[in-house]
Amino acid sequence: MSDAPTTNPCEACGEATTDALARTVRLSVDRANIDTQRLCPECFADWIDRYQSEMSGGSEDADGGSDSEIIVD
Ligand SMILES: [Zn+2]
Repeated sequence: MSDAPTTNPCEACGEATTDALARTVRLSVDRANIDTQRLCPECFADWIDRYQSEMSGGSEDADGGSDSEIIVD
């Protein structure tokens, strides 16, 4: 009946983003899901950028106690 694509706002910028384009990122630490965000392609690229620079350039966790990863659907 309806052939309109499912559209929901990006959680970062609020712009309407179709499901086909949206990316859902899940940040999990120690296998606990701590953050899930539905992002448009632009915000997704931003998010990944920020995450990677935080992970590589930020403070070093000497004991390596936290095991964090991102999952992208
Ligand atoms: Zn966005």
